[in-house]
Amino acid sequence: MMKSMSKRESIRWIAGRCGRAAGACGVIGWGACLAACAEPALVPGPAQREDPTPAAAFRIDADYPGGNIVVERIQGRTVWVAPDQRDTVPNQWWFYFSFRLRAPAQTPVAVVFTGRNPLGVRGPAVSIDGGAHWRWMGAGAVRSSRGADGRPAWSFDAEVPAGASEARYAFCPPYLESHLKAWLDRHRDHPNLAVETLVRSRAGRPVEMLRAGCLDRSRSAGVVIVTSRHHCCEAMATYALEGCLEAVLADDEAGRQWRKAWELVAIPFMDKDGVEAGDQGKYRAPHDHNRDYIDAPLYPEVAALMERGRRWGDCVRVFLDLHCPHIRGEWNDRAYFVGSPEPEFWEREKAFAAVLERVQEGPIRFRAEDCLAYGLAWNRSGNDPAGRSSSAWARSAFPRAALVASMEIAYADALGIEVNAESARALGRDLGRALAAYLAAAGGGR
Ligand SMILES: [Zn+2]
Repeated sequence: MMKSMSKRESIRWIAGRCGRAAGACGVIGWGACLAACAEPALVPGPAQREDPTPAAAFRIDADYPGGNIVVERIQGRTVWVAPDQRDTVPNQWWFYFSFRLRAPAQTPVAVVFTGRNPLGVRGPAVSIDGGAHWRWMGAGAVRSSRGADGRPAWSFDAEVPAGASEARYAFCPPYLESHLKAWLDRHRDHPNLAVETLVRSRAGRPVEMLRAGCLDRSRSAGVVIVTSRHHCCEAMATYALEGCLEAVLADDEAGRQWRKAWELVAIPFMDKDGVEAGDQGKYRAPHDHNRDYIDAPLYPEVAALMERGRRWGDCVRVFLDLHCPHIRGEWNDRAYFVGSPEPEFWEREKAFAAVLERVQEGPIRFRAEDCLAYGLAWNRSGNDPAGRSSSAWARSAFPRAALVASMEIAYADALGIEVNAESARALGRDLGRALAAYLAAAGGGR
């Protein structure tokens, strides 16, 4: 039901199902209104919360940057929702959601997903400060059951805390333009950081390109490109990218090496529109940003990066593209490198992985063995959709690069260690330190 409905349409649908003119209700999308007006009787399941009362009125919406939810129906203090698939190609499903609950404080609402489970291994993430900071609710917050129709269901209780008027819930801690701006505000006057615009997105948004380290191209030994959000839902990758920038600016030996010899070019949002709109981005129709490295790219961000790559040529010593994997299971439970099909690049990935394992300090423990060789698990030619990935492009654009790699960073749990904003940043700082050490050994490109 309603698989392709936008967030605005979902609100209209709620009003439409009410059975009265929206103005008569006066509370479009409010749970108590629907319960009183329109819903047929349901067989109560363990996921549901009964006893609708006017005081329990609540509203679910996604009308803010990064928001994504389809509200399927509401009864009492139970709401059935699903991730909005929007532009995802048919027959693919992805799990990103982010919604806001507005309700009287300390009045729980049961949030139910049915059919497919978009709740990760540490449950949903919650924010009570308007989306700036997040924490995992934990796996114990999630209940599983079967609905009246026999379909599996997963639910948790959402609740506005005392003294607040809203709470936000998401598949993982989002990282939006507002988070980047907050980080930039803290580093505004740093002499080794420059904020530029790569290009304007299709919707006209500026796509940030940050330069950090040795900003004098005539003096630097080379350029390191780090990107994230080719798949816009993969927010933990951008927390790591932020950490990598911090390593470049840090007052330590690795930071000094960076600023003396290497320039980091960081593009946090390769799908800027998708990040702000709250899209899935993975399997975006007709192809997603990470399959757009073709002769005539669809997306301005990709075309602009390819053009920069042509201009920079052999100055580019490293291309590192950060991603997040699937929800759970082997290889989705750690940070790992995706092995290249070309042996010489595969060897360089493994060499860098050994350096990262040696210099890391953060709580997420990367293991050098966590390099997924080409041909294993999902990393095989039969799994390659049409188009060309950023890494495949970079291997051909920068054949003499010291490293071209794609890293997957688990959303919630890395071999027992919690992945959150802080631990993902620490992994990024480890990546920055490892790059300094690796490049010192590999030498410059010119
Ligand atoms: Zn990805």
